[in-house]
Amino acid sequence: MAMHQFKAESKKLMDLMINSIYTNRDIFLRELISNASDACDKRYFKSLTDTSIGITKDDLKIHIQPDKEARTLTITDNGIGMTKEDLEKNLGTIAKSGSLDFKTENQSDNIDIIGQFGVGFYSAFMVAQKVTVISRAQGADTAWKWESKGVEGYTITEADKDDVGTEIILVLKDDTDSENYSEYLDDYTIANLVKKYSDYIRFPITMYREKSRQKPKPEDAGDDYKPEYETYTELETLNSMVPIWKRPKSEVKDEDYNEFYKNKFMDYSDPLRVITSRTEGTATYTALLFVPGRTPYDYYTKEYEKGLALYASGVMIMEKCADLLPDYFSFVKGLVDSEDLSLNISREMLQHDRQLKLIATSLEKKIKSELLKLQKNDREKYETFWKGFGRQLKYGLYSSFGANSELLSDLLLFYSSHEKKLSTLEEYIGRMPEDQKYIYYACGDSLERIDQLPQAELVKDKGYEILYFTEDVDEFVTKMMPVYQEKEFRSVSSNDLGLESEEEKEETKKQQEQNKDLFGAIKEALGERVTEVRLSGRLKNAACCLTAKGQVSLEMERVLGAMPG
Ligand code: ADP
Repeated sequence: MAMHQFKAESKKLMDLMINSIYTNRDIFLRELISNASDACDKRYFKSLTDTSIGITKDDLKIHIQPDKEARTLTITDNGIGMTKEDLEKNLGTIAKSGSLDFKTENQSDNIDIIGQFGVGFYSAFMVAQKVTVISRAQGADTAWKWESKGVEGYTITEADKDDVGTEIILVLKDDTDSENYSEYLDDYTIANLVKKYSDYIRFPITMYREKSRQKPKPEDAGDDYKPEYETYTELETLNSMVPIWKRPKSEVKDEDYNEFYKNKFMDYSDPLRVITSRTEGTATYTALLFVPGRTPYDYYTKEYEKGLALYASGVMIMEKCADLLPDYFSFVKGLVDSEDLSLNISREMLQHDRQLKLIATSLEKKIKSELLKLQKNDREKYETFWKGFGRQLKYGLYSSFGANSELLSDLLLFYSSHEKKLSTLEEYIGRMPEDQKYIYYACGDSLERIDQLPQAELVKDKGYEILYFTEDVDEFVTKMMPVYQEKEFRSVSSNDLGLESEEEKEETKKQQEQNKDLFGAIKEALGERVTEVRLSGRLKNAACCLTAKGQVSLEMERVLGAMPG
C-alpha cells in the first residue's frame, strides 16, 4: 500500500496540530461537525435540482459515537461524501495560499497561524493518534478509505460503505500525566461541546447515551420495596438546530454570536462588531454580519475573497456571494438569508437578480451606519477597526473615483497635529479657526518626518492643524474627494497655501524681482534638477524647501514612480 506524502505546508501545520500548540483543542469536534454539516447542505442543495437523489432535508443527519473500549470517537454524516480525488485534494493538502512559511520560526506566533488558516479537518490530529475517513460520494459506486497517523503521510484504499456520506474515526491519543484525551469518550463531555459550539447546526447531531431509569414497581411489592434501576440506551439529539440568525437577538448571548463567528468564518479572535439586520419590505432578508477583530493574514492580497454566505429560506445556496458586498466593505463576514430568492437560481442569474441588488444596497447602508455608530460610541474599538481596515476604505474611495465619497468620507480617520491623535474630518473642521480656509495636510513616512518639514511649520505656526498623510493612498483620496463639507484640501507643499495676504504676496513678488540675478545663478547651478528657484513667503526656520507645481505632488510622484508600469 503506497504511502502518500502530504504537501510540505500541510506537514508543517500538522506538526503544530499534533504537538498541540493550539491551546483550545476542544474545537476539533466543532470543526468536524461543521464539515459534516456543510456536506449535508451540499447534498441537500444538489437534491433540489437532481430528483434522482431522492432525499429530503429530514433525512440528513450527523451522528457522533464514542467507543470507550476501542478508544475511538466516530463522526458520521450522510452528506455529499468524497470521491477518491476529493480525499486526495481536500485531505492531502491544506495549503490555501502558500503563506504558511511566514512566522513558523516563532513559536508564540503559531497559534495565530493555525487560527488564520481555519483549523479545519487537521485539528483532529490534536486529539487523535490515527484518523480514518471512509467516504462514499453522491453518485459514486465505490467508497474510499483515507487513513493517516500524522505527518508521515496517508494511504487511500478502496473500502466498503453502503450509503452515501462520510465516516470519520478518531483513535484518541493515549492519556499522559498532564493530558487527558479520554474525556472525549465521555458522552457528557461530548454533549456539552456540541451544545457549546454547534448548537445552531441545522441538522440533528445525535448520539446514543446510556441512561438510567427506575424499574416499574412490581404489583406484589411489599412495604419494604426499594426502587430498582436499570440502564438503557437512547438516541438523543444534542443540538437545538435553530439557526442563530433566526433567533431573536435578545435571546442570543454575545458569546453565542462570537462562537458562531469563529466557527463559521474560521477566525480565532472574537469579532469586533456584530451586526444583525432584519428587513421586510422591498427586500425581505435576515442578515448576520461581523466586522472581524483582526485583519486576515491575506486581506491585502489577491487571494482574499470577499463575500457573504447566501441562504434562500434557510438553505445555503452560495458560500461566498461577492455581489452582496462592495469592495470597500470586503472585510465584512457573515450571511444573508432571504425568502425572496429562488432555491435553484444559478450563479449567473443571481448576478442580475433584482432582489439581490436591493439587499446589497440595503446592507451597504446598514454597515455604514453601524460603523458610524461604533465611531461615535466606542472610539477605541473604532480605531482598532480603522487600523485593520481603514486602508481598504481609502482604496475604495479612490478606486471608485470618489463616487462613494459621500458614503465613506465620514468614516475616514487621519492623524492630526492636534494632540497627535486620529481625527475624523468632521472633528477637524469643528476645530478650525474662523479664518482658516483649507483643510491642510502633509505627506511623509511618519509623523516625526512630517513634523520636520519646513512647509508644515508655517501652517502650524498660524495655529492651523495639519493632517498627517502617512500612507501612499492618502493624498490620492483627496484628489478624488477634493472637498469635505465645502472645505478644500490643501497640501502644505502646494504653491499657494492661502496664508499670505495680498500685500504680502505683492511684497514677495517685488523681492523676487529685486533678486532676479541671484535666483538665476542658483537655478543655473542646479540645472535640470529643478524647474524654478524663487523666493518663498512660507519659510520660518529652514533656509529653503522643495515644492511641486500642479496637481501631482512630490509624494504622489514618488508613489506613481514606484508603481509597476
Ligand atoms: P475547510 O472546511 O476550511 O474547507 P477542512 O480541512 O476542514 O477545510 O476540509 C477540507 C475539505 O474537505 C472541505 O472543504 C470539504 O470539501 C472536504 N470535507 C471535509 N469533511 C468532509 C465531510 N464530512 N464530507 C464531505 N466533505 C468533507
